[in-house]
Order: sequence, then C-alpha cells, then structure tokens
Amino acid sequence: MKTTTSYRRLCCGLAAYFAFALSLCAQKVSVGLFFDMPVKAVTFTVQSGSYAVIVDDTLLVAAIDKGASMQLLSGSGGVRLRVSGESMGTFSSVKAVGMGDEGLFSITCLNPQRPAQAYAQHAFVCSAKDGSGLLIVNQLNERFYLSGVVEAETGCTARPEFFKTQAILSRTYLYAHFNRHGKDGFNLCDGVHCQAYKGLLTRCRRIRAAVDETEGTIVIDDKKRPITPSFHANCGGQTCHSENVWREKLPYLRSVKDPHCRYQQGAQWQKRIALGEWRDYMSRNGIRVKNPKQFELEQSLRKKYYEVNGKKVELTKIRLRFGLRSTFFDVRVSGSDVLLTGRGYGHGVGLCQEGAMQMAEKGIACENILRHYYKNTSIINFNQARSTQAMQQDSMLFLFNPWRNETPDTTTFVDDVIGRDSAALQD
Ligand SMILES: [Zn+2]
Ligand SMILES: [Zn+2]
Repeated sequence: MKTTTSYRRLCCGLAAYFAFALSLCAQKVSVGLFFDMPVKAVTFTVQSGSYAVIVDDTLLVAAIDKGASMQLLSGSGGVRLRVSGESMGTFSSVKAVGMGDEGLFSITCLNPQRPAQAYAQHAFVCSAKDGSGLLIVNQLNERFYLSGVVEAETGCTARPEFFKTQAILSRTYLYAHFNRHGKDGFNLCDGVHCQAYKGLLTRCRRIRAAVDETEGTIVIDDKKRPITPSFHANCGGQTCHSENVWREKLPYLRSVKDPHCRYQQGAQWQKRIALGEWRDYMSRNGIRVKNPKQFELEQSLRKKYYEVNGKKVELTKIRLRFGLRSTFFDVRVSGSDVLLTGRGYGHGVGLCQEGAMQMAEKGIACENILRHYYKNTSIINFNQARSTQAMQQDSMLFLFNPWRNETPDTTTFVDDVIGRDSAALQD
C-alpha cells in the first residue's frame, strides 16, 4: 500500500469477509490491545504475509504486502484511514485480515507514543464505546495468544517443563475467563486485568513448543471448574492460604512448603521503617505499646495477622501500606527503626514461579509441579474431554466449555471468589 493507486474497491468483498467470519468460528481469541490507555492514532504495518483491508464490511484492497502501512486515527464519525498522508475516508470499522490465516503485523501507537509491537494474524479497529479513542483488537489462534502470554510473563530462557507449566496455567485462565470483556466487544484485554499479553515479542520457539505439547490441557478443581491459577514470583519457602490474602477459602489454594525457591533472587529482603512511623500506623490501627520491643514479630510459619497484645492488623494491609515485597517477614526493633526481614516476593498464593523454575531445572514434570502448588486438582485435556460422550453427560464440564457462544459461568464465579482487583493474581 505504498500509493493510493494501489487501492481497488472491489464489489465483491465477500471472500475476505468470509475468511474473517470463518476465523471467528475456530478456537480464536480476540484481545483488546492497549485497553488501559486511550489510543487516538496508530500505524498498522505488514511485517509478513499478505493482508486484505476491509472497511465497513466492504473489501477496500485485496492484498497489501510486507512493508505496506496505513494510519488509523480516531475521528468524530469513526476511524479515519490514511495512506501515505492521504485520507481514504472515515469508516465505522477497519479490518486487516491475514490471508490464509497467516500474517504478522505491527502496531505503533502515535498518540500516545509507544514503540512498535508485533502481532500475529488479524486486526480489527473501530471507535471505543466510551468515546475515548480507538478500540484495537487482535484476533488470533489460541496457541499464538498463549505463546505471547507465557513470554510476557516468563521471558524465553527457562526450562521446557516450566514453560509447559505456565502454558497450562495461562490456558486455564483463558478458558475460565474467555468472554470477560464480551460487553466491550472482545474476549480478553492485554493488561494484567486479564493476562499480560504484549504480542509475539521474540516468538520464542521453546514457548511455542510448550504451548503445542500441552494443547488443550487445563487444571480443574474437585468440582470440575477451571481453577483460578494465581501465581507469584517467590513464596519465601511457604505459600499462602487463599483466605489469608483474599476473601475466599479455595480448596486448591492451600499453603504448601516450598524448599525449591529459597536461594533464588526473590527469596530475601529487608526494609527499615522509622519506629515513629510504625508506631503511628499501628496506633491508628488499635495497636499501642509501652515498650517498642512489643512490636517484634517472628513468623517461622506464615501468619495472617500481625498481633500485639491481643490486637491485630492484617499482614496484607501492612504490606500494602509500606510497599513490602511480601507478608512473610519478621519484625525487630533496631535503634530508632523497625527492621523488617522478609522472605519471598508477591502475594504468596498458588504457584511460586522461582520454585517452579527450580523444579523444572531438576527435571520434574509439569504435572508434578502443578500438583505441588495446587492441591485437590486434576489436570485434564479439555479438547479430548469435550469430544467424548462423558463430556456431554457431564454438565459441569459442559458448562465450562469456553467455546460455547455464551459467557462461561466461571467468569462470575472466579470474580466473586477473588472479589478484588485481579491484577494481584499476577503480582
Ligand atoms: Zn481484562
Ligand atoms: Zn517458593
């Protein structure tokens, strides 16, 4: 699309439109990009393959190839499309459909400015419902989406069994929350509200292999629901009961000992806080002492509360107030300060990533890593299960088929369970 003359408005846009409609039927995921940031203008560039451009359901151009680009701007009447500085019109939607389900494109945000990011397969752009700018949706196969999610979370250097573990967890989250943003016009957003997804990044082959090898595999609880696959960086030697951090007690998010993460990066931390500041905060929360030594605390095992003289404050609240790496810390009075000596990084619930990485280093299989951190669960192949007679008869499993048209009921369930900003799931 180097010049406007390369555009051909064809009467019959049906072929490409069909390709787009068909792609909706397969196991595809529609991801809302830049969802937590209003975007006013972007450049779309073809990186590989060939793209058809469809405006308002009419084929505008049959094929644009590598290097071709177009600008999409938020306008009062919809999406303004510009090519080589020339306006092509304003449309209610612009679709770029990768022909043959292939294709790689990049999106560069111009307003606000962000570097180019690569994405696979298809793009859909229209006005955001709240009028804040553009809604940009990347529609792609589940396997490409999961590869992107795993890489955003882990990088590309870990062992295969660790990548497989993360792939199963990301897929479990995807199936449980498949239509979380149905009302917004896509399935999941690309932020930590859902699962962080930054496009294809380096297209790590090891991650792609891990996603393929675990195809269809998810973790379900004893009631056959996909689990809430919470994880964190480092548990400090012991994970946390879910009810110690959130409202709900979940049978699979139980505290377990973890000898694997103790010598890793996130295992130890210290923080000094002025005694006066600590005293003021505690006093506001009902804890008053005559002797500062009474502030001292030892957690050989994880506790839920910081308790002094029968008065207590939730450790999660203290963590939030003082910006601590974890709730797993001891308190000592040291001169005019309190010295907190802590273990772990993150909320401590579910899988400990540094522990899981070490287990994978030792050659432990992903199923055993998952069983270590998530109690009372089963690991199933959802694709196999849903094609069997058992699935049809098993109402619980059928209910959680994310590829049904309706929103899976798990969405509500899981949100209720957590009852809080799910960003912390990946803290
Ligand atoms: Zn979201
Ligand atoms: Zn750990």
